[in-house]
Order: sequence, then structure tokens, then C-alpha cells
Amino acid sequence: MLDKIIEDCGKIGDIEWIYFEGGEPFLYLPIMIYGIERSKKRGFKVGVVSNGYWAVTVEDAIEWLKPLRDLEINEFCLSNDEYHGLKEEVDRVRNGVIAAKKLGIKSVVLSVGKCAEKLLGQYRYETVLMYRGRAAIKLVDKAEKKPWAEFKECPYENLEDPERVHIDPLGYVHVCQGISIGNVERMSLSKIFEAYKPKKHPIIGPLIEGGPARLAESYKIKGDEFYADACHFCYDVRCKLREKFPDILAPTIMYGEGEK
Ligand code: SF4
Repeated sequence: MLDKIIEDCGKIGDIEWIYFEGGEPFLYLPIMIYGIERSKKRGFKVGVVSNGYWAVTVEDAIEWLKPLRDLEINEFCLSNDEYHGLKEEVDRVRNGVIAAKKLGIKSVVLSVGKCAEKLLGQYRYETVLMYRGRAAIKLVDKAEKKPWAEFKECPYENLEDPERVHIDPLGYVHVCQGISIGNVERMSLSKIFEAYKPKKHPIIGPLIEGGPARLAESYKIKGDEFYADACHFCYDVRCKLREKFPDILAPTIMYGEGEK
């Protein structure tokens, strides 16, 4: 399947980068290495995102990263913030960054909000917290909320002309976490893109027209009065629409249930 996807990325034409990310891609090390090798051979730039759980010491981390150095990956990202763990996890990310530097691999620390003090010297990329997936369930209680009618656009994804998609282990192609535009087990990636008509898509169409507010109105979904952000509202509406659109609002694991 990996071969087929990478091959097909070449046919699509304007794909530049392939990222291997999680979950945690180092849990599938041989498969990840194979995928990187194939992607590089096809001429793609390659990035890897990890939480660095394997970087117990700098010496260990160097051994884990040597194959990535040998394959000349273009970017190596380590996730660190308070949602990815505290002292031990920070030390592991630091070990990973030091090891990458020693091997001459460009590394970036990704964090939702501020990353740990110890990592502040590193090149880092900070994003805001989006209340979708588990964050929409576990973190919303502490957030300030706004009336649902204010969320009239999707603030983060270019749904009309996506600049990136995620392909999960079950083959679903996501334009945003839990919004699938097809499955590579059933149709090739290039055909999925060819068939993509965002404005006619039953979930993406309303989101383009008027954000989560339009999506809720289109299907007469009665949600709460207030939400933490557009993603929190979007996620709640989608949870209520899952029975109607089981193949689009998938897989179940994206909605906090067992993998199916
Ligand atoms: S969860 Fe909804 S509103 Fe948030 S980025 Fe995704 S599609 Fe846009």
C-alpha cells in the first residue's frame, strides 16, 4: 500500500513533501525507513515528526537517527509542549535535538503554545491549541467560550484547495482530522483528488460556505450555545452527524472510539 501511495503521489504532480508522522512513526521503524527510502527515490522531500520517546540518552538517539541521516531526510520534527509530557519527555526531546545536530539533520521543535524552557534555544514552531479530537473532550472545560453563531469560517484549513492531506493507517485521506475525502484502499490517491469537488461535498461544502455554523444549520443540528473555538463546534457537529456520514466522518478512532 505504501508503495502504491508514494507512486501515486508522483502522478499527482504538485506534491513536494511527504511527512511520516503519528501517532508515533518510530513505533513502525522498519516501515518508516522503507517509506522514506521509496519517497526519496521518487524525488520527494521527506519530513518525520516524533515525540522522541526513543531518545533515552543522546547516544541512543544517535543510533535511532543514523538511518534517517543516511537517507538524507530534509526535516526532523520533535513535538514538545505540556500536552506531550513534562520532565522526562522534555529531556528526551532535548536528547533528540542534540543527536540530530551531531548528525547534521535539520531539526525543529513543534509545540502547542510555549515549549519547555530547556528547549527555547532550538528552532521551534509554535501553534495555537485547537479544540478538536481529544482536546475537544478533555481540555474545553478550562477554555473561554463564544456563541456558536460567531464561528462562520474554518480558520485553519484551506478546504477548497488543500495544501496537505493526511493518510492514516486505515487508508482514509483526511483534509482535516476526521473529515475523509476517500480511502486509498478503495481508490488511488490521484483518483481521489480528481474526484474531489469540495463545494459539493456534504461536510466540506457547508464548511467552505459558512464554517461550522453553516454545517450545523444545514443539517439542523442543535448544539450547545457556546464553544471554545471553531474546531470545538465543528467537532461537536460532526460527532452528531457521524451516523449519517459514516464513510466521511471516519475512522471511529478520530472520534474517541475504538479503531474500526
Ligand atoms: S475542525 Fe473544522 S473548523 Fe477546525 S480546522 Fe478542521 S475543518 Fe476547520
